[in-house]
Order: sequence, then C-alpha cells, then structure tokens
Amino acid sequence: MELNENYINQIVQNVVKNLEKAAPQQRLKGVFDSMTDALEAVNKAYQFYRSYSIAQREKMIANIRKLTLEEAETLAKLGVEETGMGRIADKIIKHQLVANKTPGTEDLKPTALTGDDGLTLVEMAPFGVIGSITPSTNPSETVICNSIGMIAGGNGVVFNPHPNACRTANYAVDLVNRAIVEAGGPENLVVSVAKPTMDTSKEMMASPIVRMLVATGGPGVVRTLLSSGKKAIGAGAGNPPVIVDDTADVAKAGRDIVLGASFDNNLPCIAEKECFAFSNIADELIDSMIKNGAYMIDGDQVERLKKIALIEKDGKFGINKKWVGKDASLFLKELGIDSDAKLIICETEEMHPFVQVEMMMPILAIVRVNSIEEAIKMAVNAEHGNRHSAHIHSKNIDHLTAFAKAVETTIFVKNAPSYAGIGAGGEGYTTFTIAGPTGEGLTAAHSFTRARRCVMVDGLHII
Ligand code: NAD
Repeated sequence: MELNENYINQIVQNVVKNLEKAAPQQRLKGVFDSMTDALEAVNKAYQFYRSYSIAQREKMIANIRKLTLEEAETLAKLGVEETGMGRIADKIIKHQLVANKTPGTEDLKPTALTGDDGLTLVEMAPFGVIGSITPSTNPSETVICNSIGMIAGGNGVVFNPHPNACRTANYAVDLVNRAIVEAGGPENLVVSVAKPTMDTSKEMMASPIVRMLVATGGPGVVRTLLSSGKKAIGAGAGNPPVIVDDTADVAKAGRDIVLGASFDNNLPCIAEKECFAFSNIADELIDSMIKNGAYMIDGDQVERLKKIALIEKDGKFGINKKWVGKDASLFLKELGIDSDAKLIICETEEMHPFVQVEMMMPILAIVRVNSIEEAIKMAVNAEHGNRHSAHIHSKNIDHLTAFAKAVETTIFVKNAPSYAGIGAGGEGYTTFTIAGPTGEGLTAAHSFTRARRCVMVDGLHII
C-alpha cells in the first residue's frame, strides 16, 4: 500500500494542534469532560434513537463505513503516533476491514414460530446503553467496530477507552458522531470521556443507565467487568500457538506465519505468538520464514533479547510495556544488527518465556517437536486455557481435527495467516471484540441484543 507520508503527517499535526487549542467542550463530538455528563447525554440520545427505523440505523452505519474508509490513514497514523505501537500500513488495513466487514442490521435475525396455537415472534431488541472498555492495541478499530454492531442492535454506547490510546479512540468517537449526525441520527449516541481513568470506568460500570458491559482487553478488565453484577461480554487475552506438521506446504506455511505474526507488529490478539514445528521440516520452515522477511537470531542473542522484551519479577516473566508493538528493526538495533526484517525468529525450548508469555511483539519462538501428540500438548499448554485462537498448517485431516478438538479456541485457522480468522482473506465477517471467556465468540450486532418473544394465540398463522 502506497502512503503519502507528508500528507498524513500534515493531517495528523493539524488534528493534534486543533485538539490542543480547542476548548474542552468543543474538542470532539461525543467526548465529554466527565463520565456523568457523557452518561446523561447518551441516555438522552438513546431514548430518542428508540423511535428510529432499521433503515435509519443502516443509513447511519453506511456513513460510519464511508468516513472510516476516508479517514483510515489518519486513524492509523494517530494510533501509531499516540501509542508508539504497530505499523501504519497494517492499521490502515484493519480500519478497511472494520469498515467493509463488520456486520450491520442484517445480522439481526428474527424467528417466527407458527402452528395450531398461532404465531410467536422472537425479535432481537436493544439492550439500551452499553458501556464498552477498549484496548490500546486496536484503539480506533475497536471503537468503530463496536459502535457499528451496537448501533445496529439499536443501542447507545459509552466508551471508557484505554488511557494511553484515548486521543485516537476519541477521534474515532468523533468520527462516528459526525457520521451519525450527517446521516440524520441523534447527537451523542456514542460518547466517551476526554480523560478516561479507573474512576470513570467505575462510574460507568455502576451507572443504572448502563445495561450491558463489554470488555475488550487483558484478563484484569475482563475479570472486573464479569464481577460487576451486570450482563457482561468479556473479550480477553490470547497466546495463539501455530503448529506446522510434515504434511504441510512448508514454504507456504513459512510465508503465512511471517505475514500473520508480523502484522501490526504482532499486536492482534489472534496473531501467531509461538510455533511448534515438526523436527523433520523445521529447517525448511525457518528458511521459508527468512525468505519471507524474518530474521533468525540464536544463542546469546536470544538471551539478550529476553532481557529487552521481558521483565523478570519473583521468577516470573512479564512484558516490558515499552517494547509492545515496536518494529522488529528496533529490537535488532539493540542487538547491534542493522536489518529491516518484519519479524524476529529464534529456536527455544517449550517453557521459554517467548513461548509462554503473550508478548505482542514481532518475536516468534519456534519449538521443535517429534509428533502431533507432542505438538498439541505443548500448544494447548502455551494457550493457557484462554480458548482464544490457534492455528495449524497441515494436510492431515486427523491432525487438523485432533488439534481443533484439544485446543477449544474461538478461532482456529488452517493453512492461512491468522488474520484469515477475522475475515481478512478468509470467509466470514470481522470483529475486534472476540469474546472467548463469555462465549459470544466473534461479536456482532446480535451479541448486543436481547431476545424478546411476542405471542399471538389463535391468529395470524395462515395455514
Ligand atoms: P489492557 O487489559 O491493559 O487494557 C484494556 C482496557 O481495560 C483499557 O481500557 C484499560 O484501561 C482497561 N482496564 C485494565 N484493567 C482494568 C480494570 N481492572 N478495571 C477496569 N478497566 C481496566 O489491554 P491492552 O494492553 O490495551 O490490550 C492488550 C490485551 O487485550 C491483550 O491481552 C490482548 O490479547 C487483549 N485483546 C483482546 C481482544 C479480543 O477481542 N479478545 C482484542 C484486543 C485485545
């Protein structure tokens, strides 16, 4: 994808300058200084929105899609600039995916039951105002994707975005509001706060205005929302393994894994985060990865990289947040290597922290295995019961089936880069809120609705 860097820089600088200059209330549409004001505004908008038709909802959503495509570059650049994470070209693709493949109102499927006793209809009704907490890794993508699904379901939305990504998330809130109002919808159907904190999050969770909560992030936020006493959807962490066996098209597997694991510097929760390769094809796989843009490190370099990427505390490893989503070339520079590789690969043993920790960095550990049983055991172990995503390259149906059954993930991709699992080069719609813990799976409009039954006895059935 060709980018005019100067042009984008200019737009971003203008946006940032205007944000800084503007009076707080005028800053961005739908963005409030206090959670109390945001809640009041969205509640008012939601009451108004209840009278809107499905066709009107669709008109608003069409405009959100249009503006997202028009402003994808600005959003991508803002996200990278504010968070220091990810790659602009990949973030543009993520926004295009959100705009083109997030389901709208067509996802709401009513059911009709007819018979001797009459007609019963089940319709998917709004929940009301939904409180949504969003991550730093896909700040504007999640806001736009959740907004489309939640509005399609007839709801209003209040966001409490990640504090380190709130400028980008709130720019997306502004975009959604501009799109809605331009399409004849109410102001403030989607709101947020200028400075999100744990206090604003608590106020949002406790407010009687908020009828449903959606957490997209790590285990902490999912736990907190699930203990709120309200209906909650939890989209949590993953650590997706990828297995490559000796029936796979190994050259293609190497290419696909580099594409998936390096995409947006490995920020996506679905991205390949460790690889289990059959010993008899491991060298060929590594060669293919190198041919497709990976850089192989070994020995002392792996240990030095561990000290950069991870922090050890009480014998346990956690991520060094400063390095999340950074370019592979920056890690390599720290090792004294000048390379523009997209992904760093290395061989490790199973229990190495590069295998066990969800790093969200363009670093992929490869572990040699001798059988599918060994590969599956290690992969299931590394996935830590998140039941999020797992991937495999194989032509052996028994291997494909056995791994899918054992790992029990929401997303399971066979013979393709991981992002095929969210509709990029694979069939199916997209989402940036993948709810494994609470079981909604790939969320869409229907996830944000209540099933309501309406019964007519002895009439309206026509046979
Ligand atoms: P994070 O957990 O640090 O933050 C996510 C959001 O939760 C932020 O808005 C943060 O402020 C808030 N938060 C954190 N702890 C909280 C608590 N105790 N109470 C209330 N709010 C709290 O996540 P991040 O670093 O921004 O994102 C990366 C993580 O999110 C990874 O683990 C990744 O796998 C996961 N993720 C999952 C999905 C999915 O669809 N399942 C999508 C994107 C990211």
